[in-house]
Amino acid sequence: MTGATIKRDLRTGRSLWADSAGLGVPVKPLNEAISVDVAIVGAGISGAFMAHELSRDHTVAVLDRRPPLTGSTVASTALLQWEIDLPLTALARGIGLAEARRAYLRSRSAVDALRRIVAEEKIVCGLEDKATLYLAGDAYGHRALRTEAEARAAIGLESRYIGPADLREQFGIDRPGAIVSQGSASADPARLAAALLRRAQTAGATVYSRVEVMEAASDPDGVTLLTDAGHAVRAKSVVFCCGYEFPKGVPTPGAKVISTWAMASMPRQPCPAWLRETLVWEASDPYLYFRMGGDGRLIVGGEDEASPDAHADKAKMKRKCETITLKLSRLLPGVEFEVDYSWAGAFGESATGLPSIAPVPDMDHAWAVMGFGGNGITYSVIASQVVSKAIRGGSDPDADLYAT
Ligand SMILES: Cc1cc2nc3c(=O)[nH]c(=O)nc-3n(C[C@H](O)[C@H](O)[C@H](O)COP(=O)(O)OP(=O)(O)OC[C@H]3O[C@@H](n4cnc5c(N)ncnc54)[C@H](O)[C@@H]3O)c2cc1C
Repeated sequence: MTGATIKRDLRTGRSLWADSAGLGVPVKPLNEAISVDVAIVGAGISGAFMAHELSRDHTVAVLDRRPPLTGSTVASTALLQWEIDLPLTALARGIGLAEARRAYLRSRSAVDALRRIVAEEKIVCGLEDKATLYLAGDAYGHRALRTEAEARAAIGLESRYIGPADLREQFGIDRPGAIVSQGSASADPARLAAALLRRAQTAGATVYSRVEVMEAASDPDGVTLLTDAGHAVRAKSVVFCCGYEFPKGVPTPGAKVISTWAMASMPRQPCPAWLRETLVWEASDPYLYFRMGGDGRLIVGGEDEASPDAHADKAKMKRKCETITLKLSRLLPGVEFEVDYSWAGAFGESATGLPSIAPVPDMDHAWAVMGFGGNGITYSVIASQVVSKAIRGGSDPDADLYAT
């Protein structure tokens, strides 16, 4: 074997998960005005976690202008990480040590909560526990990673630094250092979201598609949503889970919508054994990341670009995939693979790597959820916890971390 090469590219522009089994979610058109306790705008993974949680004790309507799961969720490579894009040490410089520690610990417990929900609901979505390997790169070198591993270990997170000799011996990778962490996971994000929506439906929720929410107006008793179906939705509370299509009138300070690329090999890809249980990412900008899927596909992505629509450019997709392939072949010189799927999507970035889970300014009873960064799905879980507590009249002790 000489290195990773693109041998065939059969499904350019199509996400691997679009062809998953088990994505069916019954939907209805909005044929009349309705009134519910909670309206959730967006039937992606954030709307799915939200609907699953709130349908326990509320009447819930989920509205989407597309079929469910066909936003950013189907494009996700679904590394379910507690590690935030900004290292704990760097986040501490930005928001303070105590807050940064809380943010890391909250992400860690959110991945456990996700695991619990999947187990309790008996959801089949290829969920697997994974370690992570965070490689020194051009953004954070080996000294910074050593300090980072110590900072994490000091609050009980399962991270340890390994030097170049151990990295070569255990993983066959030539880099000046890395952090090995435990406690993350991976899954099929579309199957997960579909199953959560179906569980919410069993509890009484209704999914309306295709229905676009055009405007929202609040009053002391609730919110009225005006839709392109010509019928209004009246709700005591509304939660915007619109992914990277920010609702009008919802400010998102410090947030940027960018583009990112991904591809998947053919099934049963020959790979080193350790890769089956490890997610790999780099402390570089842009960073390369990769993992194995349940059917033995190698899923690899990165090459983020600061443009909200570059992901739609077909010529760029070919170049980006070539760059990702080249970078991968440098890291894993023994691995050769055939590309079966290649796709791209919009992605969010914030200065801190933290999401925005906050009340909509000047609109009572309304919340907006935007899960920024490489662990957007972990943030979808946190959003469902924070918002459901508020809707039930309580307050989450970490809500302040995400209230931008
Ligand atoms: C290539 C790629 C790789 C990624 N990798 C990872 C990863 O490894 N790990 C991770 O955790 N995250 C990853 N992410 C990010 C993750 O996928 C997102 O954080 C997550 O999918 C966001 O889900 P969502 O439900 O908030 O948004 P979406 O899935 O985009 O859903 C939002 C929905 O809202 C609907 N909507 C918007 N506006 C309206 C309106 N006005 N009326 C009605 N409906 C509306 C849209 O149609 C859409 O269906 C990745 C993203 C991409 C693109």
